[in-house]
Amino acid sequence: MNKSKIYLSSPHMGGNELEFINEAFEQNWIAPLGPNVNGFEQDLKEYLQEDVHIAALSSGTAALHLALILARVERGDEVLCQSLTFAASANPIVYLGATPVFIDSEEETLNMSPRFLEEAIVERIKKGKKPRAIIAVHLYGMPYKVEEIHTIARNFEIPVIEDSAEALGSTYKGQKCGTFGEFGILSFNGNKIITTSGGGALVSRDQKLKEKAIFLATQARDSAPHYQHSEIGYNYRLSNIAAGIGRGQMQVLDQHVSKRREMNQFYRDLFSKVKEVKVFDEPENTYFCNHWLTVIKAEDEGSFDTDALRMHLEEENIESRPLWKPMHLQPVFKDAPFYGNGIAEVAFKNGLCLPSGSNLGEQEKNRISSAIENFLK
Ligand SMILES: *Cc1c(COP(=O)(O)O)cnc(C)c1O
Repeated sequence: MNKSKIYLSSPHMGGNELEFINEAFEQNWIAPLGPNVNGFEQDLKEYLQEDVHIAALSSGTAALHLALILARVERGDEVLCQSLTFAASANPIVYLGATPVFIDSEEETLNMSPRFLEEAIVERIKKGKKPRAIIAVHLYGMPYKVEEIHTIARNFEIPVIEDSAEALGSTYKGQKCGTFGEFGILSFNGNKIITTSGGGALVSRDQKLKEKAIFLATQARDSAPHYQHSEIGYNYRLSNIAAGIGRGQMQVLDQHVSKRREMNQFYRDLFSKVKEVKVFDEPENTYFCNHWLTVIKAEDEGSFDTDALRMHLEEENIESRPLWKPMHLQPVFKDAPFYGNGIAEVAFKNGLCLPSGSNLGEQEKNRISSAIENFLK
C-alpha cells in the first residue's frame, strides 16, 4: 500500500510554536515552570472568556486526579461518571480508592443522561452513601445537557467536574465548555483539538483552588527553606517547552475549530442521501460543537454496518474507529454499579468515528469520499 495513512485526528502545528520553544532555550527555561507556562495559562483564561483560573498540568488525567482531590473525594467514596467516555475520565476515581458509579447516555448528545443521573443519586443516597462528585463529559466536543445536569447537581449539592478534554472551543448558550463546573479539565494530548504533545489544564472559578492545584502538582512543598511536606504531592506541572507549543497552538485554535466543523459538514453532505446513517450534529442551536471527531451512527440497530465500513476504509489506509466502549462494559470496571437502559451500548455497537483532523486537505477528502462512495455502492 503506497497511499499515506489518513488519521482520525493528528497533530496540526500552526507555525509559531518553535518561536516560543526557541525563546525557552535562549532563556534556559527548560523546566516545569517558566514564562510559557504562565503565558499559556493566560491565553487559555482569555480564550475561555470567564472569570476562571487555570493551572497548566502534565495531562488531562492529572487534572482530573487533582480535581477529585480538591473535591475531597476519599477512599470508600462514590463518584458518578458518564459511562460512554475514554477510560481516563474514570481511572482517577480509582487512584483515590473511590468507586465509580456509571451513568448511561441520552440519545441527543450521547452524554450523561439527566434521568439516570438523578435516579442514581436518589438510590445511592437511599443505600446510605451520597456521591461525592459528578464527572460529566462533552464527548467528541458535543456539550452535554448543561442545564439539566447542573440543576440536578445543585439540587443535591454535588460538585460537577466537567471533562472538557475533547471540547475546547465548544460552547453552550455562548458560554465556553470547561467553565460550567466547579472544576473543568482540558487535554492537550497529541490527538486533541490543540496539542502540547502531552498536557492538560485544570479550570476553576476560585483563585485559591488554582493555587492549591499547583501546590499539589509540584510535590506539595510547604513554605520553608528546607523541603518540608505536610501533604502528599504529585509531579503534575506542565513543562515550559510543552507550554511553548501550547502558546503557538492557541493562535490557531479557532481555525482548528472551523476546519473540524467543515469536516462535519463534509460528512453530512456525503451521507445526505443515506437514510440509514445519522451524522451526529447539534440537537439545537444553543449547542456549538467543535466537532473534534465526527460520529456516524446507524439510524436503527442493524440498518447500516459501520464495522464493514471501518474495514473498507482500513483497506484504503484510512483510519476510523468505533465509539468509546462504555466503562460499565469494560472488564476492569465489571463490578462498578451502572444506571441506564442501553443507549451507550447501542451507540458503541452502531457508531463510528471518522477522520476529522483540521489538517485534512482536498486530496484527503477526495480519498475519503471515494472510499465511502465505493462502499455505499
Ligand atoms: C483525552 C481525554 C482525557 C485525558 O486526557 P490526557 O491529556 O490524555 O490525560 C480525559 N477524558 C477524555 C474524554 C479524553 O478524551
